[in-house]
Amino acid sequence: MATILDGKKQAAIIKQQIKEKIAVLPAGNVPHMVVVQVGDDPASTVYIRHKEKACAEVGIRFTHLLLPEAISQEALLAEIDRLNADAGVHGMLVQQPLPRHLDTDEVVERIARTKDVDCLHPYNAGLLAEGRCPLLPCTPAGIMELLAAQGINLAGKHCVIVGRSRIVGKPLAMLMLAQHATVTICHSRTADLAAHCRRADVVAMAVGIPRLLKADMLKPGAVVIDVGTNRVGDTLAGDVDFETVAPIASHITPVPGGVGPMTRAMLMKNTLSAAQQFLSFHTDIYKNPSIV
Ligand code: NDP
Repeated sequence: MATILDGKKQAAIIKQQIKEKIAVLPAGNVPHMVVVQVGDDPASTVYIRHKEKACAEVGIRFTHLLLPEAISQEALLAEIDRLNADAGVHGMLVQQPLPRHLDTDEVVERIARTKDVDCLHPYNAGLLAEGRCPLLPCTPAGIMELLAAQGINLAGKHCVIVGRSRIVGKPLAMLMLAQHATVTICHSRTADLAAHCRRADVVAMAVGIPRLLKADMLKPGAVVIDVGTNRVGDTLAGDVDFETVAPIASHITPVPGGVGPMTRAMLMKNTLSAAQQFLSFHTDIYKNPSIV
């Protein structure tokens, strides 16, 4: 039976470390994150509540900016400009999906890249590809932390990532490559998905189809990361058929309690990093005004 990669437990350790770092920051320098929500999509509201709870646990100030569903693109961009200019805001994200009349790409590109705690800005994605982005995308970074905490070294391993979204699949590939893995990315047009998965030492599923990965698609002893979060009736199912896969995998993340809590812990880490970079820059200005 596979070892469970317990994201809830690891996230609690990381959040405790973040809490301790925040506790010793000078008064008035508490990191502040703003989540912008347009409209009141119930699923988005639940995700935002989770983020708020995580912020409260570590001592990050949290603001939920709820904007009307019918807001214009110009008005939304003006709100982002305002938050960009606010020195009291260290991190921000715009909860997705946005209503159809809004241009998500333009909105994401408007966020100051130093405050882009979701790491979605194309500039940050470019830095990530070069292996030098100061903020890391939360879900992929959470997966890497979980693997590292278990002592799983990716160097020379074959990692198969199923899903190529810009929020999970693509950035995860960059992080795994940076750890010297050989990476294959699969997607909806991949021919013979099972054959690719069977060759993998590590399989990461980020698709959104409940229980897509079955035991007969896996090499015995492989590590299985399940990013999928799918509502099936009243329960949450991953993209992995846990019951059949767990007995043959070496390690596996559960759903819930695997990648999800790590994603939120990484968001906290990014917000602290963004605040620390802001504070150290401003401290440096005082020490050495010639740098501006
Ligand atoms: P997207 O819908 O953006 O991407 C899904 C990817 O899966 C696409 O690349 C798509 O291919 C691919 N795909 C679809 N069908 C198949 C198939 N039959 N075989 C192989 N690949 C397929 O999803 P996200 O990346 O945003 O999210 C994926 C899942 O992870 C969802 O369940 C989401 O809820 C969950 N999630 C969980 C997080 C967490 O913290 N736990 C964070 C983010 C997401 P193509 O590109 O060709 O369309």
